[in-house]
Amino acid sequence: MISLEGKTLGNQSFEGKKVLVRCDFNVPLDKASGEITDDTRIRESLPTIRRLLDGGAAVILMSHLGRPAGTGFEPQFSLAPVAERLGKLLSRPVHFSNDVFTEVTVSTARDLQAGEVLLLENLRFIKGETKGDEAFAAYLASLGNVYVNDAFGTAHRSHASTAVIARFFPDDKYFGLLMEHEITNLERLLHSAERPFTAVIGGAKVSSKIDVLKNLSGKVDNLVVGGGMAYTFVKAAGGKIGNSLVEEDKLDTAKEIMEEFAKKGVQLLLPEDSVCADRFDNAADRKVFPTREIPDGWMGMDIGPAAVARFSEVLASSKSVLWNGPLGVFEMENFSEGTLQIGRCIGKVTERGGYTAVGGGDSVAAVNKLGLAETLSYVSTGGGAMLEYLEGKKLPGVEAILA
Ligand code: AMP
Repeated sequence: MISLEGKTLGNQSFEGKKVLVRCDFNVPLDKASGEITDDTRIRESLPTIRRLLDGGAAVILMSHLGRPAGTGFEPQFSLAPVAERLGKLLSRPVHFSNDVFTEVTVSTARDLQAGEVLLLENLRFIKGETKGDEAFAAYLASLGNVYVNDAFGTAHRSHASTAVIARFFPDDKYFGLLMEHEITNLERLLHSAERPFTAVIGGAKVSSKIDVLKNLSGKVDNLVVGGGMAYTFVKAAGGKIGNSLVEEDKLDTAKEIMEEFAKKGVQLLLPEDSVCADRFDNAADRKVFPTREIPDGWMGMDIGPAAVARFSEVLASSKSVLWNGPLGVFEMENFSEGTLQIGRCIGKVTERGGYTAVGGGDSVAAVNKLGLAETLSYVSTGGGAMLEYLEGKKLPGVEAILA
Protein backbone atom coordinates (compact mmCIF):
# COMPACT_ATOMS: atom_id res chain seq x y z
CA MET A 1 0.00 0.00 0.00
CA ILE A 2 1.32 3.42 -1.03
CA SER A 3 1.96 6.11 1.60
CA LEU A 4 1.29 9.67 0.45
CA GLU A 5 2.88 11.23 3.50
CA GLY A 6 4.75 14.43 2.63
CA LYS A 7 3.60 14.18 -0.98
CA THR A 8 0.27 15.99 -0.77
CA LEU A 9 -0.51 19.70 -0.67
CA GLY A 10 -1.78 19.35 2.92
CA ASN A 11 -1.91 22.79 4.45
CA GLN A 12 1.53 24.02 3.60
CA SER A 13 2.19 27.54 2.40
CA PHE A 14 3.31 28.28 -1.15
CA GLU A 15 4.13 31.91 -0.38
CA GLY A 16 6.56 33.29 -2.95
CA LYS A 17 6.61 30.04 -4.94
CA LYS A 18 6.06 29.56 -8.63
CA VAL A 19 4.22 26.27 -8.90
CA LEU A 20 4.18 24.27 -12.13
CA VAL A 21 1.02 22.19 -12.27
CA ARG A 22 0.46 19.40 -14.79
CA CYS A 23 -3.30 19.28 -15.38
CA ASP A 24 -5.44 17.18 -17.67
CA PHE A 25 -7.19 19.78 -19.84
CA ASN A 26 -7.77 17.28 -22.64
CA VAL A 27 -11.37 18.44 -23.12
CA PRO A 28 -13.64 17.57 -26.06
CA LEU A 29 -14.04 20.39 -28.59
CA ASP A 30 -16.78 20.89 -31.16
CA LYS A 31 -15.19 20.16 -34.55
CA ALA A 32 -16.94 22.98 -36.39
CA SER A 33 -16.94 25.80 -33.82
CA GLY A 34 -13.91 24.75 -31.77
CA GLU A 35 -15.94 25.37 -28.58
CA ILE A 36 -15.48 23.24 -25.48
CA THR A 37 -18.38 20.78 -25.34
CA ASP A 38 -17.67 19.44 -21.84
CA ASP A 39 -15.54 21.34 -19.31
CA THR A 40 -15.62 18.67 -16.56
CA ARG A 41 -11.84 18.23 -16.69
CA ILE A 42 -11.24 21.97 -16.26
CA ARG A 43 -13.64 22.09 -13.31
CA GLU A 44 -11.94 19.10 -11.72
CA SER A 45 -8.62 20.95 -11.69
CA LEU A 46 -10.05 24.01 -9.90
CA PRO A 47 -9.65 22.82 -6.28
CA THR A 48 -5.89 22.35 -6.74
CA ILE A 49 -5.42 25.66 -8.58
CA ARG A 50 -7.47 27.54 -5.96
CA ARG A 51 -5.64 25.82 -3.12
CA LEU A 52 -2.27 26.93 -4.55
CA LEU A 53 -3.42 30.49 -5.23
CA ASP A 54 -4.87 30.74 -1.72
CA GLY A 55 -1.54 29.41 -0.42
CA GLY A 56 0.26 32.40 -1.94
CA ALA A 57 1.59 30.82 -5.15
CA ALA A 58 1.91 31.99 -8.73
CA VAL A 59 0.63 29.12 -10.85
CA ILE A 60 1.92 27.89 -14.21
CA LEU A 61 -0.38 25.32 -15.78
CA MET A 62 0.65 22.70 -18.34
CA SER A 63 -1.45 20.23 -20.30
CA HIS A 64 -1.89 18.45 -23.58
CA LEU A 65 -4.98 18.47 -25.77
CA GLY A 66 -5.73 15.78 -28.34
CA ARG A 67 -3.07 14.14 -30.43
CA PRO A 68 -1.19 16.74 -32.48
CA ALA A 69 1.70 15.50 -34.62
CA GLY A 70 4.36 17.04 -32.37
CA THR A 71 5.74 19.20 -35.17
CA GLY A 72 4.51 22.58 -33.98
CA PHE A 73 1.33 24.60 -33.70
CA GLU A 74 -1.96 23.15 -35.00
CA PRO A 75 -4.90 25.50 -34.43
CA GLN A 76 -7.46 22.75 -33.74
CA PHE A 77 -5.41 21.56 -30.76
CA SER A 78 -4.74 24.96 -29.19
CA LEU A 79 -5.41 25.34 -25.48
CA ALA A 80 -6.57 28.95 -26.03
CA PRO A 81 -10.26 28.07 -25.44
CA VAL A 82 -9.24 26.38 -22.18
CA ALA A 83 -7.45 29.55 -20.99
CA GLU A 84 -10.59 31.54 -21.64
CA ARG A 85 -12.92 29.07 -19.87
CA LEU A 86 -10.53 28.72 -16.97
CA GLY A 87 -10.42 32.51 -16.54
CA LYS A 88 -14.22 32.55 -16.30
CA LEU A 89 -14.32 29.69 -13.81
CA LEU A 90 -11.59 31.22 -11.63
CA SER A 91 -12.98 34.75 -12.03
CA ARG A 92 -9.51 36.08 -12.77
CA PRO A 93 -7.49 36.57 -15.95
CA VAL A 94 -5.40 33.66 -17.15
CA HIS A 95 -2.23 34.56 -19.05
CA PHE A 96 -1.76 32.35 -22.08
CA SER A 97 1.48 31.64 -23.89
CA ASN A 98 0.91 31.08 -27.61
CA ASP A 99 3.92 28.87 -27.78
CA VAL A 100 5.61 26.70 -25.19
CA PHE A 101 9.13 27.82 -26.02
CA THR A 102 9.12 31.57 -26.83
CA GLU A 103 10.98 34.23 -24.91
CA VAL A 104 7.61 35.76 -24.08
CA THR A 105 6.70 32.53 -22.26
CA VAL A 106 9.93 32.62 -20.30
CA SER A 107 9.53 36.29 -19.38
CA THR A 108 5.81 35.92 -18.52
CA ALA A 109 6.67 32.99 -16.27
CA ARG A 110 9.55 34.95 -14.72
CA ASP A 111 7.41 38.01 -14.00
CA LEU A 112 4.35 36.09 -12.79
CA GLN A 113 3.17 37.42 -9.42
CA ALA A 114 1.53 35.60 -6.51
CA GLY A 115 -2.15 35.04 -7.32
CA GLU A 116 -1.53 35.08 -11.09
CA VAL A 117 -2.09 32.16 -13.47
CA LEU A 118 -0.28 31.31 -16.71
CA LEU A 119 -1.34 28.47 -19.01
CA LEU A 120 1.24 27.16 -21.47
CA GLU A 121 0.19 26.15 -24.98
CA ASN A 122 -0.40 22.45 -25.76
CA LEU A 123 2.76 20.61 -24.71
CA ARG A 124 2.28 17.98 -27.38
CA PHE A 125 3.09 20.57 -30.08
CA ILE A 126 6.64 19.72 -29.03
CA LYS A 127 7.82 16.22 -29.88
CA GLY A 128 9.89 16.01 -26.67
CA GLU A 129 6.72 15.86 -24.56
CA THR A 130 5.54 12.38 -25.53
CA LYS A 131 9.13 11.18 -26.02
CA GLY A 132 9.84 11.98 -22.36
CA ASP A 133 12.73 14.17 -23.48
CA GLU A 134 14.93 15.21 -20.57
CA ALA A 135 16.00 18.54 -22.12
CA PHE A 136 12.38 19.54 -22.68
CA ALA A 137 11.51 18.51 -19.13
CA ALA A 138 14.47 20.60 -17.89
CA TYR A 139 13.20 23.62 -19.82
CA LEU A 140 9.71 23.28 -18.31
CA ALA A 141 11.23 22.78 -14.87
CA SER A 142 13.23 26.02 -15.25
CA LEU A 143 9.97 28.01 -15.32
CA GLY A 144 9.01 27.24 -11.71
CA ASN A 145 10.31 26.04 -8.35
CA VAL A 146 7.66 23.55 -7.22
CA TYR A 147 6.06 20.75 -9.28
CA VAL A 148 2.54 19.44 -8.75
CA ASN A 149 1.05 16.61 -10.78
CA ASP A 150 -2.74 16.68 -10.91
CA ALA A 151 -3.22 14.93 -14.26
CA PHE A 152 -4.49 11.49 -13.31
CA GLY A 153 -5.77 10.93 -16.87
CA THR A 154 -2.17 10.84 -18.15
CA ALA A 155 -0.51 9.32 -15.08
CA HIS A 156 0.09 6.08 -17.04
CA ARG A 157 2.28 7.96 -19.53
CA SER A 158 5.98 8.55 -19.04
CA HIS A 159 6.02 11.96 -20.71
CA ALA A 160 8.25 14.98 -20.10
CA SER A 161 5.60 16.90 -18.13
CA THR A 162 3.99 13.92 -16.36
CA ALA A 163 7.00 12.02 -15.08
CA VAL A 164 10.46 13.12 -16.25
CA ILE A 165 10.09 16.70 -14.95
CA ALA A 166 9.69 15.44 -11.37
CA ARG A 167 13.43 14.60 -11.28
CA PHE A 168 14.19 18.32 -11.21
CA PHE A 169 12.21 18.81 -7.99
CA PRO A 170 13.55 16.15 -5.59
CA ASP A 171 12.20 17.97 -2.52
CA ASP A 172 9.39 20.02 -4.05
CA LYS A 173 7.07 17.65 -5.88
CA TYR A 174 3.53 16.89 -4.84
CA PHE A 175 0.28 15.26 -5.88
CA GLY A 176 -2.54 17.70 -6.58
CA LEU A 177 -5.89 17.21 -4.84
CA LEU A 178 -7.42 15.29 -7.74
CA MET A 179 -4.47 12.87 -7.91
CA GLU A 180 -4.57 12.45 -4.14
CA HIS A 181 -8.28 11.60 -4.32
CA GLU A 182 -7.77 9.07 -7.12
CA ILE A 183 -4.81 7.32 -5.50
CA THR A 184 -6.42 7.19 -2.06
CA ASN A 185 -9.55 5.60 -3.50
CA LEU A 186 -7.70 3.13 -5.71
CA GLU A 187 -5.47 2.06 -2.83
CA ARG A 188 -8.56 1.55 -0.69
CA LEU A 189 -10.14 -0.61 -3.40
CA LEU A 190 -7.06 -2.73 -3.96
CA HIS A 191 -5.85 -3.06 -0.38
CA SER A 192 -8.49 -2.36 2.22
CA ALA A 193 -11.95 -2.80 0.72
CA GLU A 194 -14.48 -4.05 3.24
CA ARG A 195 -15.84 -7.53 2.42
CA PRO A 196 -17.87 -8.84 0.79
CA PHE A 197 -16.25 -7.11 -2.16
CA THR A 198 -17.89 -7.47 -5.57
CA ALA A 199 -16.39 -6.48 -8.92
CA VAL A 200 -18.83 -5.82 -11.74
CA ILE A 201 -16.95 -6.00 -15.02
CA GLY A 202 -18.54 -5.37 -18.40
CA GLY A 203 -17.65 -3.68 -21.65
CA ALA A 204 -16.96 -4.95 -25.10
CA LYS A 205 -13.93 -7.18 -24.91
CA VAL A 206 -12.23 -9.64 -22.57
CA SER A 207 -8.89 -8.78 -24.16
CA SER A 208 -8.84 -5.28 -22.65
CA LYS A 209 -9.72 -6.55 -19.16
CA ILE A 210 -7.59 -9.71 -18.78
CA ASP A 211 -4.96 -8.11 -16.55
CA VAL A 212 -7.57 -6.35 -14.41
CA LEU A 213 -9.39 -9.66 -13.90
CA LYS A 214 -6.16 -11.46 -13.00
CA ASN A 215 -5.18 -8.80 -10.47
CA LEU A 216 -8.64 -8.81 -8.90
CA SER A 217 -8.81 -12.58 -8.55
CA GLY A 218 -7.05 -12.50 -5.19
CA LYS A 219 -8.95 -9.49 -3.88
CA VAL A 220 -12.69 -9.85 -4.51
CA ASP A 221 -15.34 -12.25 -3.20
CA ASN A 222 -17.60 -12.05 -6.26
CA LEU A 223 -17.00 -11.27 -9.89
CA VAL A 224 -20.05 -10.31 -11.91
CA VAL A 225 -19.43 -10.36 -15.67
CA GLY A 226 -21.70 -8.64 -18.19
CA GLY A 227 -21.48 -6.79 -21.49
CA GLY A 228 -20.04 -8.14 -24.72
CA MET A 229 -17.17 -9.86 -22.93
CA ALA A 230 -19.56 -12.21 -21.11
CA TYR A 231 -20.21 -14.17 -24.32
CA THR A 232 -16.57 -15.23 -24.69
CA PHE A 233 -16.82 -16.68 -21.16
CA VAL A 234 -20.16 -18.37 -21.88
CA LYS A 235 -18.79 -19.93 -25.09
CA ALA A 236 -15.63 -21.03 -23.28
CA ALA A 237 -17.88 -22.75 -20.72
CA GLY A 238 -19.66 -24.67 -23.50
CA GLY A 239 -22.64 -22.38 -24.17
CA LYS A 240 -24.19 -21.52 -27.55
CA ILE A 241 -24.09 -17.79 -28.08
CA GLY A 242 -25.53 -17.29 -31.58
CA ASN A 243 -24.10 -14.18 -33.25
CA SER A 244 -23.03 -12.48 -30.01
CA LEU A 245 -19.70 -10.69 -29.75
CA VAL A 246 -16.93 -13.22 -29.18
CA GLU A 247 -13.14 -13.23 -29.17
CA GLU A 248 -12.31 -16.70 -30.47
CA ASP A 249 -8.62 -16.25 -29.67
CA LYS A 250 -9.44 -15.54 -26.02
CA LEU A 251 -11.51 -18.65 -25.28
CA ASP A 252 -8.56 -20.37 -23.56
CA THR A 253 -7.78 -17.23 -21.56
CA ALA A 254 -11.42 -17.03 -20.46
CA LYS A 255 -11.23 -20.67 -19.33
CA GLU A 256 -8.02 -20.00 -17.40
CA ILE A 257 -9.58 -16.98 -15.70
CA MET A 258 -12.62 -19.03 -14.67
CA GLU A 259 -10.34 -21.75 -13.25
CA GLU A 260 -8.22 -19.17 -11.43
CA PHE A 261 -11.27 -17.60 -9.77
CA ALA A 262 -12.66 -21.04 -8.81
CA LYS A 263 -9.29 -21.98 -7.28
CA LYS A 264 -9.30 -18.80 -5.21
CA GLY A 265 -12.87 -19.43 -4.04
CA VAL A 266 -14.26 -16.37 -5.84
CA GLN A 267 -17.83 -16.68 -7.07
CA LEU A 268 -17.89 -15.83 -10.80
CA LEU A 269 -21.34 -14.98 -12.12
CA LEU A 270 -22.21 -14.88 -15.81
CA PRO A 271 -25.59 -13.55 -17.00
CA GLU A 272 -28.19 -16.32 -16.88
CA ASP A 273 -30.20 -14.68 -19.66
CA SER A 274 -29.68 -11.99 -22.29
CA VAL A 275 -31.80 -9.49 -24.16
CA CYS A 276 -30.94 -10.38 -27.74
CA ALA A 277 -31.36 -8.58 -31.05
CA ASP A 278 -31.54 -9.82 -34.63
CA ARG A 279 -29.15 -7.03 -35.68
CA PHE A 280 -26.91 -4.43 -34.03
CA ASP A 281 -29.53 -1.69 -34.00
CA ASN A 282 -31.71 0.01 -31.41
CA ALA A 283 -34.74 -0.70 -33.59
CA ALA A 284 -33.94 -4.43 -34.00
CA ASP A 285 -36.38 -7.15 -32.93
CA ARG A 286 -35.74 -8.08 -29.29
CA LYS A 287 -36.10 -11.38 -27.48
CA VAL A 288 -34.83 -12.77 -24.17
CA PHE A 289 -32.92 -16.09 -24.35
CA PRO A 290 -30.93 -18.07 -21.79
CA THR A 291 -27.35 -16.88 -22.44
CA ARG A 292 -26.16 -20.47 -22.96
CA GLU A 293 -28.79 -21.07 -25.66
CA ILE A 294 -28.84 -18.08 -27.99
CA PRO A 295 -30.00 -19.23 -31.45
CA ASP A 296 -28.04 -18.37 -34.60
CA GLY A 297 -29.14 -15.05 -36.05
CA TRP A 298 -29.49 -13.47 -32.57
CA MET A 299 -26.90 -11.58 -30.56
CA GLY A 300 -26.77 -10.77 -26.85
CA MET A 301 -27.03 -6.98 -26.40
CA ASP A 302 -27.89 -6.64 -22.70
CA ILE A 303 -28.22 -8.79 -19.61
CA GLY A 304 -31.73 -10.18 -19.16
CA PRO A 305 -34.21 -9.93 -16.23
CA ALA A 306 -33.05 -13.14 -14.51
CA ALA A 307 -29.43 -11.94 -14.67
CA VAL A 308 -30.45 -8.55 -13.27
CA ALA A 309 -32.25 -10.29 -10.38
CA ARG A 310 -29.31 -12.59 -9.56
CA PHE A 311 -26.66 -9.85 -9.85
CA SER A 312 -28.80 -7.56 -7.69
CA GLU A 313 -28.96 -10.23 -4.99
CA VAL A 314 -25.16 -10.45 -4.87
CA LEU A 315 -24.84 -6.67 -4.79
CA ALA A 316 -27.41 -6.39 -2.00
CA SER A 317 -25.06 -8.28 0.30
CA SER A 318 -21.86 -6.47 -0.78
CA LYS A 319 -20.08 -3.83 1.26
CA SER A 320 -17.66 -2.73 -1.47
CA VAL A 321 -18.23 -2.60 -5.21
CA LEU A 322 -15.93 -1.85 -8.10
CA TRP A 323 -17.69 -1.23 -11.40
CA ASN A 324 -15.93 -1.17 -14.73
CA GLY A 325 -17.69 -1.39 -18.07
CA PRO A 326 -21.35 -1.28 -19.12
CA LEU A 327 -23.41 -4.49 -18.92
CA GLY A 328 -24.88 -4.03 -22.37
CA VAL A 329 -24.95 -1.70 -25.36
CA PHE A 330 -26.03 1.18 -23.11
CA GLU A 331 -25.75 3.74 -25.93
CA MET A 332 -28.92 2.19 -27.45
CA GLU A 333 -31.95 2.90 -25.28
CA ASN A 334 -33.50 -0.51 -25.86
CA PHE A 335 -30.39 -2.22 -24.51
CA SER A 336 -29.50 0.08 -21.62
CA GLU A 337 -31.87 -1.37 -19.02
CA GLY A 338 -29.43 -3.91 -17.54
CA THR A 339 -26.71 -1.28 -17.04
CA LEU A 340 -29.26 1.10 -15.52
CA GLN A 341 -30.70 -1.51 -13.12
CA ILE A 342 -27.30 -2.73 -11.96
CA GLY A 343 -26.09 0.87 -11.66
CA ARG A 344 -29.07 1.60 -9.41
CA CYS A 345 -28.31 -1.44 -7.27
CA ILE A 346 -24.74 -0.24 -6.86
CA GLY A 347 -26.13 3.17 -5.86
CA LYS A 348 -28.15 1.39 -3.15
CA VAL A 349 -24.95 -0.13 -1.77
CA THR A 350 -23.68 3.44 -1.27
CA GLU A 351 -26.97 4.42 0.38
CA ARG A 352 -26.58 1.55 2.85
CA GLY A 353 -23.17 2.90 3.87
CA GLY A 354 -21.09 0.70 1.55
CA TYR A 355 -18.25 1.88 -0.66
CA THR A 356 -18.74 2.03 -4.43
CA ALA A 357 -16.32 2.93 -7.18
CA VAL A 358 -16.63 3.26 -10.94
CA GLY A 359 -14.13 4.05 -13.66
CA GLY A 360 -12.04 2.95 -16.57
CA GLY A 361 -12.89 3.07 -20.28
CA ASP A 362 -16.49 3.86 -21.07
CA SER A 363 -17.88 3.28 -17.58
CA VAL A 364 -18.01 6.92 -16.58
CA ALA A 365 -19.78 7.84 -19.83
CA ALA A 366 -22.41 5.19 -19.00
CA VAL A 367 -22.77 6.42 -15.43
CA ASN A 368 -23.17 10.03 -16.55
CA LYS A 369 -25.59 9.16 -19.35
CA LEU A 370 -27.77 7.22 -16.93
CA GLY A 371 -27.56 9.93 -14.23
CA LEU A 372 -25.94 7.64 -11.65
CA ALA A 373 -22.73 9.56 -10.84
CA GLU A 374 -24.10 11.20 -7.69
CA THR A 375 -25.06 7.83 -6.20
CA LEU A 376 -21.52 6.41 -6.13
CA SER A 377 -18.73 6.95 -3.60
CA TYR A 378 -15.98 7.45 -6.15
CA VAL A 379 -16.10 8.15 -9.87
CA SER A 380 -12.61 7.98 -11.35
CA THR A 381 -11.56 10.63 -13.87
CA GLY A 382 -9.01 8.32 -15.45
CA GLY A 383 -9.90 5.81 -18.17
CA GLY A 384 -6.68 4.06 -19.14
CA ALA A 385 -4.87 5.22 -16.00
CA MET A 386 -7.48 3.69 -13.71
CA LEU A 387 -7.44 0.41 -15.62
CA GLU A 388 -3.64 0.19 -15.38
CA TYR A 389 -3.81 0.93 -11.65
CA LEU A 390 -6.37 -1.87 -11.26
CA GLU A 391 -4.08 -4.15 -13.23
CA GLY A 392 -1.54 -3.64 -10.45
CA LYS A 393 0.84 -1.70 -12.69
CA LYS A 394 2.95 1.15 -11.37
CA LEU A 395 2.00 4.43 -13.05
CA PRO A 396 4.99 6.60 -14.11
CA GLY A 397 3.20 9.82 -13.07
CA VAL A 398 2.61 8.42 -9.58
CA GLU A 399 6.01 6.79 -9.16
CA ALA A 400 7.81 10.00 -10.19
CA ILE A 401 6.30 11.88 -7.25
CA LEU A 402 6.88 9.03 -4.79
CA ALA A 403 10.54 8.54 -5.84
P1 AMP B 1 -15.31 -0.92 -22.77
O1 AMP B 1 -14.72 0.33 -23.36
O2 AMP B 1 -14.50 -2.14 -22.95
O3 AMP B 1 -15.78 -0.71 -21.36
O4 AMP B 1 -16.60 -1.24 -23.67
C1 AMP B 1 -17.69 -0.40 -23.76
C2 AMP B 1 -18.51 -0.77 -24.96
O5 AMP B 1 -18.99 -2.09 -24.85
C3 AMP B 1 -19.73 0.10 -25.13
O6 AMP B 1 -19.60 0.89 -26.27
C4 AMP B 1 -20.87 -0.91 -25.24
O7 AMP B 1 -21.80 -0.58 -26.26
C5 AMP B 1 -20.15 -2.18 -25.60
N1 AMP B 1 -20.95 -3.37 -25.25
C6 AMP B 1 -21.50 -3.67 -24.06
N2 AMP B 1 -22.21 -4.81 -24.12
C7 AMP B 1 -22.12 -5.25 -25.40
C8 AMP B 1 -22.67 -6.37 -26.09
N3 AMP B 1 -23.43 -7.24 -25.46
N4 AMP B 1 -22.37 -6.49 -27.40
C9 AMP B 1 -21.60 -5.59 -28.04
N5 AMP B 1 -21.05 -4.51 -27.44
C10 AMP B 1 -21.32 -4.34 -26.12
